[in-house]
Amino acid sequence: MAMCTEDDTDQAIARAVRAQRSWNALAPADRARLLRRFAEAVDADREHLAWLEVQNSGHTIGNARGEAGNVRDVLHYYSAAPERLFGRQIPVAGGVNATFQEPLGVVGVIVPWNFPMPIAAWGFAPALAAGNAVVLKPAELTPLTAIRIGELALEAGLPEGLLQVLPGQGAVVGQRFVTHPDVGKVVFTGSTQVGKSIMAGCSEQVKRVTLELGGKSANIVFADADLERAAATAPYGVFDNAGQDCCARSRILVQRAVYERFMDLLEPAVRGVVVGDPSDEKTEMGPLISAQHRARVAAHVPDGAPVAFRGEHPSGPGFWYPPTVLAPVDLDDPVFAEEVFGPVVAVVPFDDEADAVRIANRTDYGLSGSIWTRDVGRALRVSRAVQAGNLSVNSHASVRYSTPFGGFKQSGLGRELGPDAVDAFTETKNVFIATEPD
Ligand code: NAD
Repeated sequence: MAMCTEDDTDQAIARAVRAQRSWNALAPADRARLLRRFAEAVDADREHLAWLEVQNSGHTIGNARGEAGNVRDVLHYYSAAPERLFGRQIPVAGGVNATFQEPLGVVGVIVPWNFPMPIAAWGFAPALAAGNAVVLKPAELTPLTAIRIGELALEAGLPEGLLQVLPGQGAVVGQRFVTHPDVGKVVFTGSTQVGKSIMAGCSEQVKRVTLELGGKSANIVFADADLERAAATAPYGVFDNAGQDCCARSRILVQRAVYERFMDLLEPAVRGVVVGDPSDEKTEMGPLISAQHRARVAAHVPDGAPVAFRGEHPSGPGFWYPPTVLAPVDLDDPVFAEEVFGPVVAVVPFDDEADAVRIANRTDYGLSGSIWTRDVGRALRVSRAVQAGNLSVNSHASVRYSTPFGGFKQSGLGRELGPDAVDAFTETKNVFIATEPD
């Protein structure tokens, strides 16, 4: 795959500036119709996109189909927005006051390799719906589905240059989004380390930025929970996409009174995760993205690490790593504090509600988490006390396109998805019209 240069990026941004003007001049209903057509083009190509992702990223075919469907759904959801970009009429003396939601111009979207399709769509769909053009940089390892989605946009009739996919290096193409004066906002999903440098770079021009960064989410299991269900589903809350998920519940906190029982239930559930060929419909977990990433994951489980039990993985080609459960671990062990981004989970006991909240919040991250209890009061108290953007009670669901998604603390800045995401791609303009003579 040829990588775009800085010059290519500048030319793409110049095309985007022109395309945005013609996009914004279209009637809202026409923009909405084109976004619906784009969604339908993605839907018609869903199976092709899914297989492309299996080949490029090693995602299981079941997940990849869901990811392509998510792009369609996100486009459909935001296709309603162009006709609903409401401002407000605010009562003032001497005239009429109205607010307008103006587009930012060109938005740069920088995507990581772990969920190439959905994360791209969470940026470009609301950005386009708000009247912007988008330049999108996929991760170096996973550009194929993004390139195909760019082709589908053109086939659906979106203006040339409105959504451009620029495969390239972060330090070249991504960095140019940060420094180019015609890019009004950068949406970055990736590591906290790179996210901080993007934020610092954007500050030079007071450029708008949304950051979706790492996580070290807690799965808190209280003694009164449905332990069978909590244990049966816990592996999927962390090993889905081979743990390469910013929302992975990679810390399991279990109330001491039921700790042994929970571990007894967790072991068969972990051994039961079907690890194998991602193109097999029955596979639940595929390989890791690369040899380099596997080495990174393995470094978190050195010789002598307290492995409680692990699942199996196939031999033969593929960057395999088995589902791995670590216990007992100390709260200060790096594996309990750092994001592994692989199929590794650490389990610790806690004493009471306050202890659970204290341990859950003992991290610089704050993206997601789960709470298992039958006590509705406790479920709400703990949900309010855990410092994270996305919590589920008796569930491991993390992201829905119709609800806001994003992190507390160093897990990010701003929110994606949900009813308000379009606002993050606009500026509010206030206009006063005098109706009284001076
Ligand atoms: P990464 O930060 O290395 O790269 C992410 C993207 O940024 C890539 O497209 C990369 O090319 C680009 N990039 C790298 N350096 C850059 C620079 N200096 N300037 C501009 N762009 C640059 O992360 P990764 O290894 O691709 O992804 C894994 C990380 O992403 C994990 O830490 C994970 O938690 C995080 N992540 C977060 C979310 C979320 O929504 N919060 C979702 C997925 C992944």
